[in-house]
Amino acid sequence: MRKTELSEKAFKEAVNLMPGGVNSPVRAFKSVDVPPIFMKKGQGSHIVDIDGNEYIDYVLSWGPLILGHAEPRVVEAIQQAAVSGTSFGTPTLMENKLAELVIERVPSIEMVRFVNSGTEATMSALRLARGYTKRDKILKLEGSYHGHDDALLVKVGSGVATLGLPDSPGVPKKTTENTLVAPYNDLNAVIEIFNQYAGEIAAVIVEPVAGNMGVIPPVKGFLEGLRAVTQQDGALLIFDEVMSGFRVGYHSAQGYYNVIPDLTCLGKVIGGGVPVGAYGGKREIMEMMAPSGSVYQAGTLSGNPIAMAAGFATLSNLTKEAYLHFESLGDTLEKGIRSLSKSHNIPITVNRAGSMIGMFFNEGPVTNYQQSKASDTVFFSNYYREMANRGIFLPPSQFEGIFLSTAHSLADIEQTLDAMESSFQALKN
Ligand code: PLP
Repeated sequence: MRKTELSEKAFKEAVNLMPGGVNSPVRAFKSVDVPPIFMKKGQGSHIVDIDGNEYIDYVLSWGPLILGHAEPRVVEAIQQAAVSGTSFGTPTLMENKLAELVIERVPSIEMVRFVNSGTEATMSALRLARGYTKRDKILKLEGSYHGHDDALLVKVGSGVATLGLPDSPGVPKKTTENTLVAPYNDLNAVIEIFNQYAGEIAAVIVEPVAGNMGVIPPVKGFLEGLRAVTQQDGALLIFDEVMSGFRVGYHSAQGYYNVIPDLTCLGKVIGGGVPVGAYGGKREIMEMMAPSGSVYQAGTLSGNPIAMAAGFATLSNLTKEAYLHFESLGDTLEKGIRSLSKSHNIPITVNRAGSMIGMFFNEGPVTNYQQSKASDTVFFSNYYREMANRGIFLPPSQFEGIFLSTAHSLADIEQTLDAMESSFQALKN
């Protein structure tokens, strides 16, 4: 059995210091009814908590650590950057180097601006889209998360043309009344909204592989359809690749699905575990940003030397072979889960796009938010605790995907499937 004494003691202290004891809500492990686990160190695919329990990590800091924990080349790049000065607030050469690499790899990006988080990236890309098109409305997809910007923090209501309602106290109704919502993977609903608001929508923002309602890949024709309808109407198409960027494919999800948006938001992987975000796209659009244009956005620590160095070390070591590794491990894991689902007679739907994998405890298919919500979340939280007790660290929420890194091995996958087998067995008894 896992030891939890030190984590529980640390959490008791934390709740008096920080709201809910954490700096980001999901870290409170509320939906799985487990006391928050305080981590101490990580190496490769493994992490160790402050009680000394070791786990195979499938969270990877919610995606960024695509080369695994404390990857020596990333650590060295961070150390070198730190001893040369942690921040200058002036341009540095490493910004050029990372920008060049991002532009080379991401098909839609001709120019890029670095910021400090994924939230900043989506918020700024929306401002740019509104400035460029001189339109106010935006369209997002139900169940998608694009960070905690007011305009995007919209209740994921069902229905075709739901006008957005704020999802949190503190977000004025006025801020979200220009946010339209359509179900994910429902192109007809999107077209209907465009018919209703022709010429008024600045942009559609979409996760090309949804990763915040579990993992839901786009159905055939969905991204292509979004590209066509936005182009016809003069709206921009924004891919939020904060999660899928450099994870789903060597050229990100847009390369994988061969649909090229006008603007792309990035984060997570491009900072190699250090805070970062970015947005980029067509030169003509990006040049509307200050100081070359009039749309304002700035940041004291944007393009921070440590983040740039960690990002460059990460991306330059993400070779095409890495994606073959993800494919091979992902496929083994996916097939293993399906086979356990059959042998234990537990309904499980597995969705996968490269190294992003989602597992739902229902018959499926799961192609939108409503279907993902049909997963048995009580079973999930029981399963979560069984897996944690067997040394497998999963995201503590049904509505998050799991991630692989280059450090994960076939032995890790086999150990994980063994743990799953005995967890299912234990849950039956
Ligand atoms: N967009 C997507 C698709 C995300 O998954 C996230 C975070 O999980 C964000 C935006 C927000 O990024 P950050 O947490 O860095 O602000």
